[in-house]
Amino acid sequence: MKNEKYLGVEVSTYSMDEILLKLDNVILENKKTFIVAINPEKIMKAQDDNSLLELINSADLKIPDGSGVVLASRLSNGNIKSRVTGIDLMKNICIGASKKKYKIFLLGAKPEVARRASEKLKEEINDIQIVGVQDGYFKDEEKVINEINDSGANILFVALGSPMQEKWITKNMDRLNCNIFMGVGGSFDVICGDINRAPVWMQKCGSEWVYRLIKEPRRISRVKVLPMFILKTLSRRD
Ligand code: UDP
Repeated sequence: MKNEKYLGVEVSTYSMDEILLKLDNVILENKKTFIVAINPEKIMKAQDDNSLLELINSADLKIPDGSGVVLASRLSNGNIKSRVTGIDLMKNICIGASKKKYKIFLLGAKPEVARRASEKLKEEINDIQIVGVQDGYFKDEEKVINEINDSGANILFVALGSPMQEKWITKNMDRLNCNIFMGVGGSFDVICGDINRAPVWMQKCGSEWVYRLIKEPRRISRVKVLPMFILKTLSRRD
């Protein structure tokens, strides 16, 4: 795996196409892969939480989800040239899965949000096979594990927010028969239309976070770690 390290957190340098190819092989070879989306907020959180740092680094693919990570790589002559956002990767996995008839399970978000996200994906992607949907406010974990296994899903998207989703995946991955496990944060809310993504020009120039901040001002405490992340990264790259 090709990785760069920022403040002790590994980030994969693979492009979207390289990742999709790898994931296809994971299913064909019936292996398991855990994907985590990395942004400055997660990296800074991991500075005070060693178990979170280890958990993130234990993932098989750590995608450069945040524009701050791409900036840090550019400033330190790294090889990460563009973002691979969680939501774009999720949608591309869904498109690829529809062609190969791989089965998908959606776990997480508020009741109804996961179901509406599933309906939306079915509208947008021909032949997509979503074999199960479960909101993220369940009590009986065993029941959910059995439901996922009984569905025969190859791909599990977990939208419980971070780091809960990453902890949930690492705790249960061995007992689940899926091949691809990906934490997708608020992606179901975006897919079903409850939260809008920034216009494409903002996504392209790395300022999607500004849009999200305007729409959800409560995210200020999450965004304000960005300057500190860049400063710390420039003074230390490991
Ligand atoms: N969520 C959930 N169960 C919980 C807590 C949160 O399913 O116990 C969902 C919540 O409804 C939302 C997602 O997790 O859909 C978190 O979204 P957010 O944008 O905060 O995640 P991030 O990508 O920032 O980690």
